Amino acid sequence: MIDWKDKREFWITGARVADPESGKIRGGSICVRKGIITEITWQKSVSTDLPVLDAEGYVLAPGFIDIHTHLREPGYEEKETVKTGTAAAVAGGFTSIVCMANTDPVIDEPSVVEYIYKQAERAGACRVYVTAALTKGLEGQVINEYHFLKQAGAVALSDDGKYVTNSQVMRSALEYAWYHKLPVISHCEDEFLAGASQMHEGFNSTKLGLRGSPAAAEEIAVARDLRLSQLTGARLHVAHISTAGAVQLIKQAKRSGVPVTAEVTPHHLTMEDSLIESFDSNLKVNPPLRTKKDIGALRTALKDGTIDCIATDHAPHNEIDKEVEYDQAPPGMIGLETAFALLNTRLVRTGELELIELIRLMTSGPADVLGLPGGRMRKGEQADLVLIDTERNWTVEKARIRSKSKNTPLLGTELTGLVQGVFLEGKWLNVVP
Ligand SMILES: [Zn+2]
Repeated sequence: MIDWKDKREFWITGARVADPESGKIRGGSICVRKGIITEITWQKSVSTDLPVLDAEGYVLAPGFIDIHTHLREPGYEEKETVKTGTAAAVAGGFTSIVCMANTDPVIDEPSVVEYIYKQAERAGACRVYVTAALTKGLEGQVINEYHFLKQAGAVALSDDGKYVTNSQVMRSALEYAWYHKLPVISHCEDEFLAGASQMHEGFNSTKLGLRGSPAAAEEIAVARDLRLSQLTGARLHVAHISTAGAVQLIKQAKRSGVPVTAEVTPHHLTMEDSLIESFDSNLKVNPPLRTKKDIGALRTALKDGTIDCIATDHAPHNEIDKEVEYDQAPPGMIGLETAFALLNTRLVRTGELELIELIRLMTSGPADVLGLPGGRMRKGEQADLVLIDTERNWTVEKARIRSKSKNTPLLGTELTGLVQGVFLEGKWLNVVP
């Protein structure tokens, strides 16, 4: 256990410091005073009168930022709360998260936005930002009062979990969001084509006899929203893209100047639909796990800039919900606590992605997408940092999961890369007991 409690002014020395903006990881030291990074030197040691925290052997990076977390509060506190969700975030190295609006009540009124911020202040372990709903009750019919939602602190708008089926409603929502300078996050899925599907439509759904949702259900939805973003000039962010075709559409749109960004989840980058052979209901997610070819396209898109960031789509469901027949289970898996280690293990250590690239996709990448503070190793920034042992192996076990729900297909899996703790505004929060 690292015991660095209660130091307000100090140097962190000896670490390998990750700077996502310069794309470099090198030996360095950082001075933190009153919650702010006041100095960065590219020397492994310093002479100083301040306390020195020796971080030799660790990587020190800006704290991770997740722009797609389901905190489930209010309404589904048996699955997750602001308290447990932010504790899970810190355990995964996140210092800021953005929560989604599909709660009960839906986050479609300023009072609900304010409620989440109050809960975060009272019980939150990290920073929380709120996404408000695009339409009343997520019903896709009536547009919310974006002006008041923004005033209450909403940083983005989304009906995540649902696609706004009516194109005229979506057009108006984009225009209104553009006027209020709020990005719109779209859950791209043609619900009629997807139907009551259980997984991706293809060889494996046929083999397993489960109803599939074709890649086209996502691509049709992405294509329409790209056109509407082009028409209105509004900032569109496509949530959890999962197909090779969606990657192509976004790539082309970016080339022609459409103001679009996109995210991908750790599970869509690492898990194939063939795994569903096990009928583990924790593998049921929306959008569904896709094919090897889709995974290849998503990985390429991380490197060529088509995809802007990683987002977890952390979707807690408790055991009563998930311990049912596969086809009865609700979609979603938790992801905050395994995101970094899973991608470090499957993409970085296999040589497919540089460590600094992964860090960029989890820090300055998501910060840029929603215009959030943090995510940078820069003098004058708030000292939100994560300390990682990138070589350390650990096994995902129920007992160590901080989230109230344990719905991950990774239970029992050994991963490499362990978050030791985070500094939140310079305050050390230990993760490893
Ligand atoms: Zn979604």
